[in-house]
Amino acid sequence: MPTLAGIRADAEDGPAAGAWHTALHEAVIAAVAAATVDAARLRRVIGIFGEQVRAFNGQQFHAVLRAAYGVDIFRAEPGLDALCRVWEAENLRLIQSIAPHYLELLEGRVVAAVQQGRTLRTVTREIRDTYGLPRKRAELIAQDQIGKLNGQLTRYRQQNVGIGQYRWRGAMDQRERDAHVEREGRTFDWDKPPGDGHPGHPIRCRCWAEPVLPSLDDLDALIVH
Ligand SMILES: [Zn+2]
Repeated sequence: MPTLAGIRADAEDGPAAGAWHTALHEAVIAAVAAATVDAARLRRVIGIFGEQVRAFNGQQFHAVLRAAYGVDIFRAEPGLDALCRVWEAENLRLIQSIAPHYLELLEGRVVAAVQQGRTLRTVTREIRDTYGLPRKRAELIAQDQIGKLNGQLTRYRQQNVGIGQYRWRGAMDQRERDAHVEREGRTFDWDKPPGDGHPGHPIRCRCWAEPVLPSLDDLDALIVH
C-alpha cells in the first residue's frame, strides 16, 4: 500500500514517469519474498496433514472389511510411502505457488488501474477486495488434495488385497456434479477409470469407492480371526 501511494503520484507526473512500473514490480518481488514460507517447515506440516488422511483412510478401510467379513484383514502396503511422498511434493508445489500467483494478479490489476487513471482510493479498495483470494485458493487446494489422497489410498488399499472393482458412491447433495450423480451405484474397474478419474480425483470431488468384495477365500491378504 505505501508503494502504491508513491507510484500513483509518480504516474501523474507525465510521460517520463515510467519508473512507477519498476517500483511496482520491485514491491511485488519483495512481497513474494516476504510471503515465502520456509520449505522444510511447510513440508513437515504437509507431512502431518498427509498422515492424518492416511490414518483416517486406513481406519475406514479396515472397518468396511471387518463389517463385511467379520474378521480383521491385513496385508503389507509397501507402495503407500511412495504414494504419500509424491502427494506431499505436489502439495508443496501447489502451496508455494499461491503467493506468486496472487501477487502477479495484483500487479496486473494495479498496472491497469494506474494506466486508466483511477484514483488511489479506488485502487486501494480494489486491492482490499482481493485480500481473501489467497486464503480461498489455499482452502480449495486443501479440500481438493484431501479428496485426491483419500481416493488414491482407497484404490491402493483395495487393489492391494485383490479388490478389482468398486461401486461409485456420492454425497448425493446439491453440490455433486450431475455426471457423478448418474454414476451412483454403478460398478467400475480400478483398471478402467472414467474419463475424469476415479472417485476423489476430479477437482473437489467428494465421491468415494465402495469395494465390490470378493469371497473371503479370494481375498489376497492375511486373515486374522
Ligand atoms: Zn464426485
